Amino acid sequence: MSDHQTSYTINSMIGHLYLQNKVFQSLSFEDQQSIVVDLIEKSHRSDVNIGEILSNECFSEYEEIDENRTLATLFKICFYCGQPKEHVADYGDEFYPQGLCSDCARENNYTFKK
Ligand SMILES: [Zn+2]
Repeated sequence: MSDHQTSYTINSMIGHLYLQNKVFQSLSFEDQQSIVVDLIEKSHRSDVNIGEILSNECFSEYEEIDENRTLATLFKICFYCGQPKEHVADYGDEFYPQGLCSDCARENNYTFKK
């Protein structure tokens, strides 16, 4: 059984660091990604759900943030494989679920709707 509480706590902490403390903004995008990937890897000691960690749950605390985005789309980290990827579907992407990378989309047989 997944540890949902831990997953959402990590989501909330990353969101807080990003939105409230703004610690990520002074870093390069690659450094931002690697910190989040590192946190995900460390959290594997608990039975966490990567999809919940990279969800948009943390944005509900901040009115000014577009809740359509998730941590997966923000940091371009796939919620399925947990890896930083060149292309992660964003909320405006109609092809496959947001936060999913094209490799995982292909593996899971998401067909392009165009
Ligand atoms: Zn992936």
